[in-house]
Amino acid sequence: MREAKTAAIIGGGAAGLAAAVAAAKAARAAGAAVAVVVYEASDRVGRSILATGNGRCNFSNARPDAALYRHGDFVAAAWEALEAKGAGAEGDGAADPGPANAVLRFFADHGLLWREEGEGRLYPLANKATSVLDCLRASCAALGVEERCGFSVAAVEPPRGPGRPFTLRLADGRFERADAVIVAVGGAVARNLLPEGLPFVEPVPTLGPLATETRWCRPLDNIRVRGALVLRRGGAVMARELGEVMFRKYGVSGIAAFNLSRLAAVGDALAVDFLPALPADRTEAFLRDRRKALRAALGREVTWDDMLRGVVLAPVADVLLAAVGLKGKTPAAAAEAAPVAAVLKGLTLPVEGLGDVRQCQVHRGGVAVEAVDAASCEVRGVPGLYVVGEALDVDAPCGGYNLHWAWASGLLAGKSAVEGLAPSSGSERGEGEPCSDSPCLVRRSAGPSQSLRSCAQTPSSRSEPAGSRKRGRR
Ligand SMILES: Cc1cc2nc3c(=O)[nH]c(=O)nc-3n(C[C@H](O)[C@H](O)[C@H](O)COP(=O)(O)OP(=O)(O)OC[C@H]3O[C@@H](n4cnc5c(N)ncnc54)[C@H](O)[C@@H]3O)c2cc1C
Repeated sequence: MREAKTAAIIGGGAAGLAAAVAAAKAARAAGAAVAVVVYEASDRVGRSILATGNGRCNFSNARPDAALYRHGDFVAAAWEALEAKGAGAEGDGAADPGPANAVLRFFADHGLLWREEGEGRLYPLANKATSVLDCLRASCAALGVEERCGFSVAAVEPPRGPGRPFTLRLADGRFERADAVIVAVGGAVARNLLPEGLPFVEPVPTLGPLATETRWCRPLDNIRVRGALVLRRGGAVMARELGEVMFRKYGVSGIAAFNLSRLAAVGDALAVDFLPALPADRTEAFLRDRRKALRAALGREVTWDDMLRGVVLAPVADVLLAAVGLKGKTPAAAAEAAPVAAVLKGLTLPVEGLGDVRQCQVHRGGVAVEAVDAASCEVRGVPGLYVVGEALDVDAPCGGYNLHWAWASGLLAGKSAVEGLAPSSGSERGEGEPCSDSPCLVRRSAGPSQSLRSCAQTPSSRSEPAGSRKRGRR
C-alpha cells in the first residue's frame, strides 16, 4: 500500500473549491493516494460565492482578457499553463472541443449551464449563485474531498526538512499536517498565516463606490442613470466607463464607478456624461434644434424644464440647471445652450476617495506575483506551498473577471499540487476508474447535501499544545 499524502486547501471560497476539485480529480486520474482536505473558517464553504453578482454570480466572462487584470502578464502565463495542463477538464475525447477556456470547460464538465449577458458576463442559467456552488460541492463530494468547516487556520509553517510535512496551526491551538498547502483565503488575511518574509503588497479594498464632493450627489441619492463616467487627472483622461451610474449621498456607485475605483485617486475629477451616445461637439446644436422643435410643437416659449424633460429624470434636470445657475421655469435662451450642453456631457465631481468600503468587491494587494511561479501558483523557494485567487496581488474590473481568476488559479494550483506530490505516478488507470488503495478517492457521494466527511485516510485535528508535538504524521 502506498503512503497517503494530504493536500490541504485553506479557504473554501471560489479558488479553494476549484483547487479541491482539481486536486482530487488529478489524484484520481493519476491513481495517487492523496487526501484533499478543505479547511474553512466559517460554518460552511462557498459563502463568498453566494454573495456575488447580487446573488446571481457573474461567475466568468465570455471574453476573458488578461490585459484587464493587474499583473496581466502573470495572469496570462497562468492561463497558458492551465490550458497546457488541461486542469479540471480531462475531456471525453469527443470531437467538439467544448467551451473556449479551461475554466468554462471545468464548469461544463461539472454540469453547470449558463447564459451570457451584456459585455460577455456569464451567469448560471438558473440565475442563482447557489447553482454554481451546488455543482462545486457535488463534485467535491463525488471526488471524496473532505470539508472541515469551522477550522480557522492561523499559520502555515513550512516543512522543517526534505520530505517533512507542512504544519497548519489552527486558531484554537490545535495543529494539522499536510504535504501540500494551497492558500485560498481571499484578499485581506493571507499575510497573517503565510511564512514571514514573503513579498507582500498591503491589501486595500477596491472595486467599490467613489466618494466625491457631495453638493450635487446628495439631492440625487439612489437615482440610477445609464451614462458614462470619465475620470480625469490634471486634465488628462485616465479612463471612461459606460454603464449604470447610481448616485449616493456620499458620491457615485454602480458598476462604472466600481471599475474606475481601481484607478481613481483623491483629487481626480469624475465627470458624469448623461448623454454618452451624443458627441460632445454636437450637444449644443442638439439643444438649439430641440428648442426650435419644442417651440413649434408646444406653440409657446419653452422653459429649461421643457428642454430637459424626456432627456433626463426631473431631479437630474434640477441639479444640472442649478450647476449652471439656471432655473427650470426660466425660458430657455439660445445662448444658454452651451453651458447646459457642457454640464449634460460632464457634471464634474471632485473625487475624495472610496465610498462605502463595505461594498468593495475585492482587495488590491496580497502576495506579490513575483513570489509565485505563474506556471503552477507555487511559492518560489517553498515547494508544495501555493497561493491562489484574491490572496495574490491580482484584481480586475467587474464583469466576472475576478471569479474567473479565482477558478483558474485554483484549478492550476490544485492540479500542480498533486503533480508535485505524485510526480511519477503516471496513471495506468482511465479517468473514473477506482483507486483501490485510497478509500478517499473511490467513495462517491450522491450529492451535495450529503456529508463530505468521506475520507478515511484524512488526518484528524491534533489538540496537543505546540510544545508537546512528538509524532509526525507519517
Ligand atoms: C459583494 C461581492 C460581489 C461580488 N461579485 C462578483 C461577481 O459577480 N463576479 C466576480 O467575478 N467577482 C465578484 N466578486 C469578487 C469575488 O467574489 C472574489 O474575487 C472571489 O470570491 C475571490 O475568491 P477567493 O477564493 O480568492 O476568496 P474568497 O471567495 O473570499 O474565499 C476565501 C475563503 O477563505 C475563508 N478563510 C479566510 N481566512 C481563513 C482562515 N484563516 N482559515 C480558513 N479559512 C479562511 C473564507 O471564509 C472564505 O470562505 C464579488 C465580491 C463581493 C464582495
